[in-house]
Amino acid sequence: MPELPENEAQRLTLERECLHRTIEAAELGENITHIDLPGDNELGRLKGRQFTETRRHGKNIFLGSKSGPWITVHLGMSGWLIPYDAPEPEPDHTKFRIVFEGDRRLAFRCPRKLGHVKIVDDPDAYISAQDLGPGALAMDRDVFTDFIGGSKAAIKSALMDQNRIAGIGNLWSDEILFQTGRDPASRGSDLDDQTLDTLFDTMRAALSKGVDVEADYSRLPDDWLIPNRKDGEPCPRTGCGGSLTHHKVGGRTAYYCPVHQS
Ligand SMILES: [Zn+2]
Repeated sequence: MPELPENEAQRLTLERECLHRTIEAAELGENITHIDLPGDNELGRLKGRQFTETRRHGKNIFLGSKSGPWITVHLGMSGWLIPYDAPEPEPDHTKFRIVFEGDRRLAFRCPRKLGHVKIVDDPDAYISAQDLGPGALAMDRDVFTDFIGGSKAAIKSALMDQNRIAGIGNLWSDEILFQTGRDPASRGSDLDDQTLDTLFDTMRAALSKGVDVEADYSRLPDDWLIPNRKDGEPCPRTGCGGSLTHHKVGGRTAYYCPVHQS
């Protein structure tokens, strides 16, 4: 599932490719039962407008203008926003498209239908109504350490709690815990203050690097988990000598190294 770095990469793509272009139409794609998309009246509100700014909060992307309306997109498990120019063919599994003046198009590809597109007037009001926590890269150290340090849940589950920390999912929680040397199943309440501080710093550094490389995993350091995240792979941490494996934590598959993560 796209997480903070992947969503930020998408936001940057929209910023580069989709601003200051007049919208001729906003349309729905094919096979759109069981996916949350705007109705006809809402789609009509976009006609004649231009997007002039983008925002992101955790895993929610916003595209709009000061006077609104905005579209907000959640990519779900496998959704992706793809700008392209007609007459290039539209991506398959397109569920929503924006036709800009000229050739530019924006397609929301969502094969598993677990993402959504909504039209909203005010991103702040939307974020507040969703009860989302502060963005992982925007939150204060004390808020983070108080929450994790007070959590009886597995650290991995706590890191992925969108109501408390917005933007971290399965992949990046594994990376953060790999680098911190903690077992994903261990409890936040068992960490001492120094480890909580290290966890916060590691979270910030890992997500920032993910944002810097625009979620291109081939540009992550070789000694990180994500480029090596497979059962049986040698642990990429220098001098560790362990092998990567996985277990279920809070219903999610956590990859980790049982030698240096405890
Ligand atoms: Zn290891």
